[in-house]
Amino acid sequence: MTTHMVNVRPYGEEAVDITWRDGLIAAIAPAGTAVVSTGDDVLDGHGLIVLPGFVDLHTHLREPGREDAETIASGTASAALGGFTAVHAMANTNPVADTAGVVEQVWRRGVEAGHCDVHPVGAVTVGLQGERLAELGAMADSAARVRIFSDDGVCVSDPVLMRRALEYVKSFDGVIAQHAQDPRLTEGAQMNEGELSGVLGLRGWPAVAEEAIIARDLLLAQHVGSRVHICHLSTRGSVDIVRWAKERGVEVTAEVTPHHLILTEDLARTYDPRFKVNPPLRSADDVEAVREGLADGTIDVVATDHAPHAREDKDCEWAAGAFGMLGLETAFPVVMETMVGPGRLGWRAVADRMSEKPARIARLADQGRPIAVGEPATLVVVDPDARWTVDPSRSPSRSANTPFLEREMRGAVVHTVLRGRPTVIDGALA
Ligand SMILES: [Zn+2]
Repeated sequence: MTTHMVNVRPYGEEAVDITWRDGLIAAIAPAGTAVVSTGDDVLDGHGLIVLPGFVDLHTHLREPGREDAETIASGTASAALGGFTAVHAMANTNPVADTAGVVEQVWRRGVEAGHCDVHPVGAVTVGLQGERLAELGAMADSAARVRIFSDDGVCVSDPVLMRRALEYVKSFDGVIAQHAQDPRLTEGAQMNEGELSGVLGLRGWPAVAEEAIIARDLLLAQHVGSRVHICHLSTRGSVDIVRWAKERGVEVTAEVTPHHLILTEDLARTYDPRFKVNPPLRSADDVEAVREGLADGTIDVVATDHAPHAREDKDCEWAAGAFGMLGLETAFPVVMETMVGPGRLGWRAVADRMSEKPARIARLADQGRPIAVGEPATLVVVDPDARWTVDPSRSPSRSANTPFLEREMRGAVVHTVLRGRPTVIDGALA
């Protein structure tokens, strides 16, 4: 079966027609010249921009255990609408994804749902308890072929365990993704520590609680010669520390979330738990620092930290609210508004930060590939000028805790294609 995606601009360049067969790109020709035979499928690219499908390194799908908040099927449908062709399902489920059995189950459910590839993240420690290492090797050898390990939600705070984990994953080229949060420095913390936390009477979450763990782990990674990935970095100091380590050749990669690129701690003034997240929203200066870091490559990738929560966990007072916000369907428009619109990232760089680099960190062979003959037809078509209003009732996600409720976004995902098969056509699930 042959499909032609006509009139699209790879990386925003000259318009072409892309033809694929059996999931692989067979031809790329100037727009209007594809030879269409009867029976071929045609997808109109409307002269829009085509990029390799987005890859998310940080997604909470909540299955198994909290299927009321999200399932693998509902979360990956949301991912496809956001332009993602692969997501990494975090391990803090119930049961925790700390054995080969659980990660294989998550991986299989992803295949069954079919909206995008689901790569389970394995827990670093048994039950996320931070006491002993989980079966990292068994998870790596399983059908799910786990390469990223994280206790995300909590920090691997014991330096001896962190060191052992870094040493262990070297043998199969895995990576530890650290949720950098010193537990003692953040006991009871509710929002960014600063003048505003004092004014609002909410317990502060100091930047140093993140930065101290990052600094320690970069030194540990250097010491054992392993690679480490920093989840959702959020402060200027964190960006500076990662930049320092990269200059010294430490094998570190880092991610920033869309919400840390655009929202600030001022939203805590509303006492609306929709804006409560871990790590917390920071100052305007921190927002500027993460944008600079993403632009100059200190921060390697945008990762959503999509964190669905059931209504009862968010419709409550601030102190009782759960940490986390939705992110899959709004990631691209936020990158559009904060980075592409102001000229801080071009389309090649968007492909790098949202597709190629995350695929490389996760060691995915057939994601984040160039748009070229012989490569997988795993693509996203985006309209940089489309305007739309965020309305969770129109999302397949089972949760509604978006921080962008009723906000007008600029930039939309039009088509998503996974190995030649459209998962989203004209902004709707295929
Ligand atoms: Zn986290």
